[in-house]
Amino acid sequence: AEMFGQLTSGLEAAWNKLKGEEVLTKENIVEPMRDIRRALLEADVSLPVVRRFVQAVSERAVGVGLIRGVKPDQQLVKIVHEELVKLMGGEVSELVFAKSGPTVILLAGLQGVGKTTVCAKLAFYLKKLGKSCMLIAADVYRPAAIDQLVILGEQVDVPVYTAGTEVKPSQIARQGLEEAKKKNTDVVIVDTAGRLQIDKAMMDELKEMKRALNPSEALLVVDAMTGQEAAALVTAFNLEIGITGAILTKLDGDSRGGAALSVREVSGKPIKLVGRGERMEDLEPFYPDRMAGRILG
Ligand code: GDP
Repeated sequence: AEMFGQLTSGLEAAWNKLKGEEVLTKENIVEPMRDIRRALLEADVSLPVVRRFVQAVSERAVGVGLIRGVKPDQQLVKIVHEELVKLMGGEVSELVFAKSGPTVILLAGLQGVGKTTVCAKLAFYLKKLGKSCMLIAADVYRPAAIDQLVILGEQVDVPVYTAGTEVKPSQIARQGLEEAKKKNTDVVIVDTAGRLQIDKAMMDELKEMKRALNPSEALLVVDAMTGQEAAALVTAFNLEIGITGAILTKLDGDSRGGAALSVREVSGKPIKLVGRGERMEDLEPFYPDRMAGRILG
């Protein structure tokens, strides 16, 4: 299936209503704007985001007037494309690396979102950029998570620092970081505990990890299938512990687009990377422009 197929066809209905028109007017965009609003809501984009988006597009649409050689439906497509790019943050948001010593990337996320997989995928991705990596297994509440990280580390040929489940996560992370310094490792990726839902213990632990490690990146891994809920999670984590961005997983599934379109606008934090499958190579930077292109079909 095409990514966000339903959203794409929902938006198509809007352009189709403008076929045969000469110019965009206040009157003839009413119906198309209703279609756009409906398509975005059905894609599970957060309501305030939809409202602002529709308003911005409407204002621009009535202002363009007659453009020779460009039909109104094409004009509207162009405006929506530009506004979608803006909504998703405009430019690609690059990972930040430390000026000296190992760069620390802290990964947080609820259970099942794909956080452990992302650890290994990210190491694989960074290795391709020529950076040496180490994974640190600091999810001490689920021994299975540590085992899984070790297996994935082997798959991508990246060392995994483990210290069992009896040591405090921040302590494990500090030890791992020391080890990485000795080996001149460029990047350490810290896998933290995932819980079923946000709770105080989780937030406290993440705060302590941040204090102990001073990471260049603290990224929240969120599942695209959860739509605007993903944006709410990014907001909550950012307010509580301060994060640098999000990684959106499972974009290959039948997610509707709400997460990709809401996260930046709702939380103020960028989506830095997206996961598009279960294989190690299925992680890539988030390009707002390409994403908008895909949505418009
Ligand atoms: P964690 O509990 O957050 O550490 O989640 P895991 O990394 O164990 O992943 C949970 C499940 O989601 C596993 O079966 C992964 O293979 C799967 N998964 C992770 N990322 C993706 C993705 O981008 N696409 C798909 N289709 N599956 C994914």
